[in-house]
Amino acid sequence: MSRSAHPAGPRHADVLPEGHYSAPADDLNVLDPKVWARTVGRDADGVVTVGGIPVTQLAEEYGTPAYLLDEADFRERARAWRTAFGDGADVFYAGKAFLSRAVVRWLDEEGLNLDVCSGGELATALSAGMPAERIAFHGNNKSPEEIERAVRAGVGRIVLDSFQEIVRVAHIAQSLGKRQRVQIRITVGVEAHTHEFIATAHEDQKFGIPLAGGQAAEAVRRALKLDGLEVIGIHSHIGSQIFDMSGFEVAAHRVVGLLKDIRDEHGVELPEIDLGGGLGIAYTSDDDPREPHEIAKALTEIVTRECEAARLATPRISVEPGRAIVGPTAFTLYEVGTVKPLEGLRTYVSVDGGMSDNIRTALYDAEYSVALASRTSDAEPMLVRVVGKHCESGDIVVKDAFLPGDLAPGDLIAVPATGAYCRSMASNYNHALRPPVVAVRDGAARVVVRRETEEDLLRLDVG
Ligand SMILES: *Cc1c(COP(=O)(O)O)cnc(C)c1O
Repeated sequence: MSRSAHPAGPRHADVLPEGHYSAPADDLNVLDPKVWARTVGRDADGVVTVGGIPVTQLAEEYGTPAYLLDEADFRERARAWRTAFGDGADVFYAGKAFLSRAVVRWLDEEGLNLDVCSGGELATALSAGMPAERIAFHGNNKSPEEIERAVRAGVGRIVLDSFQEIVRVAHIAQSLGKRQRVQIRITVGVEAHTHEFIATAHEDQKFGIPLAGGQAAEAVRRALKLDGLEVIGIHSHIGSQIFDMSGFEVAAHRVVGLLKDIRDEHGVELPEIDLGGGLGIAYTSDDDPREPHEIAKALTEIVTRECEAARLATPRISVEPGRAIVGPTAFTLYEVGTVKPLEGLRTYVSVDGGMSDNIRTALYDAEYSVALASRTSDAEPMLVRVVGKHCESGDIVVKDAFLPGDLAPGDLIAVPATGAYCRSMASNYNHALRPPVVAVRDGAARVVVRRETEEDLLRLDVG
């Protein structure tokens, strides 16, 4: 479907404002499988269901807003990545997208590894029983305490992000009588084709050591000399919500170029290359993400080809999808509180959550879709902006979308593809209570992260 500022067809208002939205779907009741978790559908009464349970029932039991997570879908996507890359490669789920102990167990069972980037994420992973050797520890400013904890726990790799950290990790490992497996994160000068604030491999940014000017080569030179470190590979992460594989092609070419230089200078062939995450998902029907097997095939071919050209043995590849696994598997269920039509503009639909449970729209100008979930409707589509209840005019959940014109307070609406970077970035702004994550599978629901209570809030406020 093409973007249009003036979509055709019957409209609620005669004049539609400029905006970045598509014409409404022919039937707003139809749920596009591209943007919804796999077990989502509608029952005979028109109520949206997930894992066989109607959202009306889930709302009654767990309240709104709530993140409803399709466990079967999560496991299927995790498994698809694992299968696509096979035994010759490693898949690290990026925990920052969404991490809970249930998720850690599912990943463990499905044979995936796990990326963490803070002491808190490491603690969650270890407490849920993820074997330490399958954990990678990331971050541009890990504290000495965090490093020590990771080394003591025996994490499989620490991804080094600066010259100071090379020395710091080596020193800590040595003082503990250990040799820590590490990768060195470099920036290869590739900018992923996405919003500036979520593009991370161009050089003017905080992550990684630039390949440019020989800095990455110097980092490797220093790391190889340190007894506390075992350098196992080079890491590159080029951005987020990427659909076009050409960025990975350039990145792989440059990383392999560095591996070749390392071989020529030190006589060492580093055994691993990590290409990071960043693969895109469908937030709206306009997005066309690739399947894990296509991504695996493309990345494997690129690395193999580059290594053949450089006469290097092909290193073991690892990837770090976060969003692409968890993003599509959850949606946020809200109750509509007010419906405010602004003549000639759009209708503002206020829900019982907002930027405290989904900051991505305010932070990245992210696009989302939305559907009426507690019933179907044949009313004319109306252009809406779904907003939250916070004291901030930028508190927008869905900037431009269509909902049925008879939408009313008390209706439940659902925003799909909120599995990644929503609960994990949730805040207590306005002392909002962060919503629960409810996992649904085969007709059974269980809370995996409970809703916050006022007691939780007040416990931190020691007066
Ligand atoms: C954020 C991040 C990821 C995951 O990104 P997604 O867009 O969720 O796939 C992977 N690796 C690193 C180093 C990251 O910082």
